[in-house]
Amino acid sequence: MRSANEIWEAALGELQIKISKPNYNTWLKETTGISYQNGTFVISAPNIFVAEWLNARLRSLVAKTLAGIIGGDVDIQFVVHGPEQNESGGLVCNWQTDGGISSKIKKTRLNPRYTFDNFVVGRSNRLIHAAAKGVAETPGHIYNPLFIYGGTGVGKTHLLHAIGHAAIANGFQVICISAEQFTNEFILAIRESKTEEFRNRFRDAQLLLLDDIHFIDGKEQTQECVFHTFNALYNASRQIVMTSDRPPQVILSLGDRLRSRFQSGLIVNIEPPDLETRLAILQAKAKQHKLKIPDEVLRLLARELKRNVRELEGGLTQLVAYAKLTGASLDHEMAAKVLAEVLVPDDYKKTTSPDFIMQTVANYFGIPTGEISGRKRDRRTTHARQIAIYLMREESQYTLSQIGKQLGSRDHSTVLHSYEKIAKQINTDAHLQEQVSKIQQQLHTAEPSHNKMKSGKRSQKL
Ligand code: ADP
Ligand code: MG
Repeated sequence: MRSANEIWEAALGELQIKISKPNYNTWLKETTGISYQNGTFVISAPNIFVAEWLNARLRSLVAKTLAGIIGGDVDIQFVVHGPEQNESGGLVCNWQTDGGISSKIKKTRLNPRYTFDNFVVGRSNRLIHAAAKGVAETPGHIYNPLFIYGGTGVGKTHLLHAIGHAAIANGFQVICISAEQFTNEFILAIRESKTEEFRNRFRDAQLLLLDDIHFIDGKEQTQECVFHTFNALYNASRQIVMTSDRPPQVILSLGDRLRSRFQSGLIVNIEPPDLETRLAILQAKAKQHKLKIPDEVLRLLARELKRNVRELEGGLTQLVAYAKLTGASLDHEMAAKVLAEVLVPDDYKKTTSPDFIMQTVANYFGIPTGEISGRKRDRRTTHARQIAIYLMREESQYTLSQIGKQLGSRDHSTVLHSYEKIAKQINTDAHLQEQVSKIQQQLHTAEPSHNKMKSGKRSQKL
């Protein structure tokens, strides 16, 4: 048997050939293979940025490479070792466990970096920042529930944890849990016939912070459990805060009861930051990590990396890592080179596949992918179909007639009509604009294969 480290060395050898040299040097060079047990291969990265980047961008390639070497499917986990270990390990919520089922419910960790102090406020997040602070000070009184939604990497989890830190400092009992973790623990409770006990644990919380609530979409039993937990807390004037990648009205399976409860509080959308905020974030990060970076370099990054804060942070780390490795000085010229060579990974240059567009649109509207090309004509399906057509024209290289074919033999003029309808309406309809840009964000930020996996998971009912 080869050790995990030997297997990883072999994988690195292959990965070095598969990806560009700058990418390899920045992201993989300093990783090590930690363990391989029960089908999970654990890889250590030098810091949280690298771990997150690897997880978002190279996960499937790494899994494939390892599977080839090991000879079977492998799950991948990226962890952080070294000086930043504590940072990623985080704090435990002040939620006591006392044996029984509760001790099996994983204590949720708050990332110590995710505080209000470290959160840069700008035009795109001013309202939600104020609401979040208010909730942490007087939970249960204003904005209950608080529903935060927005695309990936815009700071939802950061704000949720910031509320957690501040509320704990104010002496409140906090439970912070991701919807995925909630679901897993709930399944465990069902298996052990301890659902009542499971629910009671949550009822003790003064604040319940639920991350990525869209995860329960389509999982009927979990949804029912969330509803009961929610009601119990809400009726006792406890504070509930939720984050989601989409607004409550498009989480189809929430059901009317839960949806109207969600809508009775404050629902806020966090937009990707504007240029000024992006620059402020970069300046804050540079200061936080004691990095001396010329302002013109930060400006260049802020101008180019528009999609979200995670991308912005990744860009900064990559630039610094690259400068360290090559010994080059961190100037405008070097930054431009890194941006061109490294920061625009191949995934971005490729046009998006029409299948992936249909799948993402269907997922967003909570309808089966097949209905985009099907014959149903209710409002939601028709609207989703028109948006899919619009995006196929904008984001893929398909011609109108190819799009028509893709959509179950619809003719060229029908396709054009749908495209033009959306193209015209998008200029005046803010809600439509928002829907389309959210879907585009998902198309641009997700690795296609990764996304397919995710949507597969979503369709599972529980
Ligand atoms: P989401 O949960 O929306 O996907 P996260 O909360 O995980 O995004 O944020 C991604 C990264 O960006 C985190 O490292 C977070 O600290 C950082 N970040 C997001 N918004 C801000 C902000 N306004 N100021 C400082 N850092 C931010
Ligand atoms: Mg998050």
